[in-house]
Amino acid sequence: MTDFTMTTDAEGVATITWDVASKSMNVMSTEAFMTLSGLIDQALADGAVKGVIITSGKKDFAGGMDLNVIARMRAGGAGAIFDGVMQMHQVLRKIERAGMDPKTLKGGKPIVAALPGTALGIGLELPLACHRIIAADNPKARIGLPEIMVGIFPGAGGTTRLARKLGAMMAAPFLLEGKLSDPKAAKAAGLIDEVVAPEDLLKRAKEWVLSATDVDLVKPWDAKGYKMPGGAPYHPAGFMTFVGASAMVHGKTMGVYPAAKALLAAVYEGALVPFDIALKIEARHFTSVLMNPSSAAMIRSLFINKEALEKGANRPKVEDMAVRKLGVIGAGMMGAGIAYVAANAGIDVVLIDAAQEAADRGKAHSEAILDKGMKRGKVTAEKKAEVLGRITATTGYAALAGADLIVEAVFEDPKIKAEVTAKVEAVVGEGCIYATNTSTLPITGLAAASKRPEQFIGIHFFSPVDKMMLVEIIRGGKTGDAAVAKALDFVRQIRKTPIVVNDARFFYANRCIIPYINEGIRMVAEGVEPALVENAAKLVGMPLGPLQLVDETSIDLGVKIAKATKAAMGKDYPDEAVDHVLFWMADQGRLGKKSGAGFYAYSDKGERLGLWDGLGHKYPLDKMQPSLSDVQHRLLFAQVLEAVRALEEGVLTDIREGDVGAILGWGFAPWSGGPFSWLDMIGAARAVEICRGLTAQFGPRFHAPALLREMAETGQTFYGRFAGEKAAA
Ligand code: NAD
Repeated sequence: MTDFTMTTDAEGVATITWDVASKSMNVMSTEAFMTLSGLIDQALADGAVKGVIITSGKKDFAGGMDLNVIARMRAGGAGAIFDGVMQMHQVLRKIERAGMDPKTLKGGKPIVAALPGTALGIGLELPLACHRIIAADNPKARIGLPEIMVGIFPGAGGTTRLARKLGAMMAAPFLLEGKLSDPKAAKAAGLIDEVVAPEDLLKRAKEWVLSATDVDLVKPWDAKGYKMPGGAPYHPAGFMTFVGASAMVHGKTMGVYPAAKALLAAVYEGALVPFDIALKIEARHFTSVLMNPSSAAMIRSLFINKEALEKGANRPKVEDMAVRKLGVIGAGMMGAGIAYVAANAGIDVVLIDAAQEAADRGKAHSEAILDKGMKRGKVTAEKKAEVLGRITATTGYAALAGADLIVEAVFEDPKIKAEVTAKVEAVVGEGCIYATNTSTLPITGLAAASKRPEQFIGIHFFSPVDKMMLVEIIRGGKTGDAAVAKALDFVRQIRKTPIVVNDARFFYANRCIIPYINEGIRMVAEGVEPALVENAAKLVGMPLGPLQLVDETSIDLGVKIAKATKAAMGKDYPDEAVDHVLFWMADQGRLGKKSGAGFYAYSDKGERLGLWDGLGHKYPLDKMQPSLSDVQHRLLFAQVLEAVRALEEGVLTDIREGDVGAILGWGFAPWSGGPFSWLDMIGAARAVEICRGLTAQFGPRFHAPALLREMAETGQTFYGRFAGEKAAA
């Protein structure tokens, strides 16, 4: 069966239905696009057809372009991409002109898009080429152009059409931020034309087709005297928009995301020329973005590999282990968050704390999140009641009977954790899997307190639990496959992205993020201008500078981790210089954002005011400041070398997890596709050379791991070398 099929009714209305048989959500392939083109030709040529409805056979319209196709397009080189894109433009333009006389603009056939649900990417670009877009009133539907989120931009005319339809200013949130809307909001914003009751969708579409007249089919940009809403670039108002947009894009992307800049250029340059030339300009910029290694790496990590991990790429082959009843022990910041995400996903939760008041407070956290959702119109009163109804807050362990998964999130103290393990195992059934949310204690050690260490595992959430998408699953020395499968199925239920790593100090994410923070603090101690440290981090695409990050996570936590690490490592402990600063800050009562004082100064309301000037008195600035790129190399290599070591030591077993985990877990420069993608981009030989320089200047922590040196000698890349094992090339 082809992805598009067409039927024509007695009144001459043809319906083209999009239904990709092998998928639950329609995605566009090159072949399908050609099928659609053929059907349009047929409908336009057939005298019995008065007009066309394009709709979907599924509950949603489309999820977008098949990004695997985009990844493959790149293999053909720039020429092939450009030709392919221009061919798409031609088909969409054929729909838009629908056989009308180009001079009189008369005689075309009306073509309407009828969207039953979600319409993303090409799933909106195709409707934008139609003469009218009607959507079913389906509050769950998401309508928009999210391409920018994976490092590309709408390249099938969406950029040019939306900018001309709404004006650059109004189109900006949809194009530059990938903002998605439900049908009503999409209608209010002018993205679509009409919202109707779901059962009336096709009826209304047909009615429109039968009543449309010639003028209804002419797009504003094809009509005489078209002016861009809000003004083209050389109009005084348009000038302001483009200057502002340019500054905004640079401010947000720090110049590291090529797609945003190319998109803006396509809109700007496109606005100065006729529509068909604008499409060609859009295609040229789109081609250049697709050929950029950053977009390739982003698509690979943020879409293809992220999805593969979510679908269980590394799940042991055991039966479905979906969670029905979850026990959460410890109703503090993490436990309360875990209880919420589980209950929100339809899982019954028993939330236990030492005191009833603490357990209730944990449950109240869910209520607060749901209330916020209600205020924003995202959550109904029924949904709130339903989610809260699933959470039982108690101190009684007996309530855990029948639970099939436990997540322990009590204090970070092995003794308390061991007591809890014993208490839980006394009441749960034999098959129950037990997970700890510890962030620093090795799983194998904690599992010693369990009667069933093969059922003991780490499920490490990040804070705040309801927002952070990564979950790190840690296999202890004795953890069995059933526990791994259970953890993965749980993460799938709560719709987050899992990585599975082996047990080692700090697992994977914290292992890489701590050296990043420490390198920043170390530079402060050396007399590097703190603003240089922070800005260098942001200019290389880190969402937070290391000093802001430690302020957010709290300086006393840093002190605690430093002390525990030092106790465990003894004379091998490498971070004395960092501790001087950290401990001194803690002594000053500057514990970070929560105490209103840290590396930054804060207002009474907790707003960050700027770097604290007291730092300069204690750590005077060196007269010779390092170059921006030196600071950036130190900050990046502190992280990526740990990632390589984690792979070398077998903590990471799949570079896809290393890349996806880095972006979702601690925001590692998303434009790069992750630490391994970044190293592939610069090449192992160049990386080793940089390490040599950094080692000579700053010490052995920058010594290139053997794996990297070997790859430099043999000219290998990570994705080249490890693709055959698990990772997608
Ligand atoms: P928290 O102090 O906010 O919460 C701990 C809760 O456990 C408290 O409510 C406490 O009353 C309760 N508790 C203590 N002993 C108990 C017992 N014997 N029985 C029942 N309840 C008990 O701490 P948190 O930040 O939620 O951290 C919890 C765990 O999660 C720790 O292991 C921590 O390392 C880990 N973790 C924390 C973060 C983070 O960012 N805070 C991130 C990942 C993992």
